[in-house]
Amino acid sequence: MTIAENTENLSEKVRDFISSPRKILINGQWSDAASGKTFDTIDPATGEVIVKVAEGDSVDIDRAVKAARAAFDDGPWSGMNPTTRERYMHRLADLMEENADTLAELEALDNGKNVAVARAVDIQIAIDFIRYMAGWPTKITGDILPMSVPYAPDAKFMGYTLKEPVGVVGQIIPWNFPALMCSWKLGPALAAGCTVVLKPAEETPLTALYIGELICQAGFPEGVVNIVPGYGHTAGAALTVHEQVDKISFTGSTEVGKLIVKAAADTMKNVTMELGGKSPAIILPDADLEIAIPGAASAIFFNQGQVCCAGSRLFVPDSLYDQVIEGLAEVANSMKIGSGLNPENMVNPLVSQVQFDRVMGYIKSGCAEGADLIAGGNRRGDKGYFIEPTILGNTNREMKVVREEIFGPVVCVQRYHDIDEVASLANDTIYGLGASIWTRDVGNIINIVPKIRAGSVWVNCHNILDVVMPFGGYKQSGFGKDMGKEALAAYLETKSVCIMA
Ligand code: NAP
Ligand code: MG
Repeated sequence: MTIAENTENLSEKVRDFISSPRKILINGQWSDAASGKTFDTIDPATGEVIVKVAEGDSVDIDRAVKAARAAFDDGPWSGMNPTTRERYMHRLADLMEENADTLAELEALDNGKNVAVARAVDIQIAIDFIRYMAGWPTKITGDILPMSVPYAPDAKFMGYTLKEPVGVVGQIIPWNFPALMCSWKLGPALAAGCTVVLKPAEETPLTALYIGELICQAGFPEGVVNIVPGYGHTAGAALTVHEQVDKISFTGSTEVGKLIVKAAADTMKNVTMELGGKSPAIILPDADLEIAIPGAASAIFFNQGQVCCAGSRLFVPDSLYDQVIEGLAEVANSMKIGSGLNPENMVNPLVSQVQFDRVMGYIKSGCAEGADLIAGGNRRGDKGYFIEPTILGNTNREMKVVREEIFGPVVCVQRYHDIDEVASLANDTIYGLGASIWTRDVGNIINIVPKIRAGSVWVNCHNILDVVMPFGGYKQSGFGKDMGKEALAAYLETKSVCIMA
């Protein structure tokens, strides 16, 4: 298939958007990179170029940060009355809703994912989350504190706290849920009154840039949101060391997260890190397999396994092993593989050649280390980055495929013998992002959930995300939360005020 064939049914709006090189958004203006450079964004279903995008680097980041700084220090945003700030955010959510089909198509084209899923999941949650956060500005309050100063017993004091925006925020996001990550980052920052410089992933800049257009249409004050596409080691790195940036919020790999924490330490930035995972899905001996088998399949194969909390390690008791493996293989072998622009295809390409090579390398490594190849394992077609849903059976903790995040449609199935050991097996990883347990016994839920060292634990489901539920990692999966009211807290400073009467 060629890109012309893959894109023949695209809407007029998407065609128009990709008909000319996309630019950088700084201070409400779209411009080329200062260097004049561009990079290609690729259609993963064909490997061909969709459109060229301005390649921002440290010079553009500097301009963007200065615009965000001026907007924060001197502009109307941070001090705006909360109802007005809410109205801007609702206007943005309304525009995203009006353009939801366009955003979904653009996401499917740039990332490769299923367009119907993108509409129902990525884009809908992105919209819902801006709305959820739009409700907060009027509800950000401090406390009144009863004071009793021991060394001034005769004086009267009034103490209270003010919640204030942290300032200029640099936001760096990955390519697996580009529009959703953009919303997760922008929502709480804007609700808190911060100004933003956002760098989308080089693989998938298009929906963030489209949302940038909508932000301009919604009439946000200049410089409140600046969007600089470019590479991580240039544009991203410049953001993490910029003296005028107060906070970095990052979603991406643990490896890059560590670099960013170190880089941000020099200027002591406030940092939030949403990092990688190797999340366990644990089938307990009493599980309802009618739910657990399709559930475990979807836990790993959703979004081609390119999900930070994907159920990539599946724990199955000896007694159910053969039945689960057989059921899982049936699901994997029946999934339709093809371009995400056709909504019937439930297995879509991986995002890039790099990711394709990485995942194929892991499959080879798993087989070489002695795993059973139960299903999949191959490339599909000779164009684009398609990999069959893959099941590796009889894996163990020594294997690289079990220890490292693969970030592809590859599940490592491990047997266990004793229900009392399963939580410690599940915790045997440097990561702690998500986990699921599959059981009908409430006693199992009460016993096992507290033992799991992970930021989200699902029972009889996996990968369920909701705007009200905080999402983030334990251990090397990071710190700080996206979504829920805790996401807002990460963008607020607390100021203590003391008045002596
Ligand atoms: P990545 O390679 O870490 O990249 C993430 C972002 O960081 C990209 O925008 C990247 O830019 C940028 N970057 C790279 N090097 C940088 C540097 N030295 N300084 C500043 N920025 C830099 O991750 P990815 O491959 O895009 O995404 C997959 C990873 O994200 C997985 O590990 C996944 O688990 C994790 N993830 C976590 C969550 C969560 O909420 N915990 C959610 C989604 C994904 P370029 O790509 O443009 O070079
Ligand atoms: Mg792309």
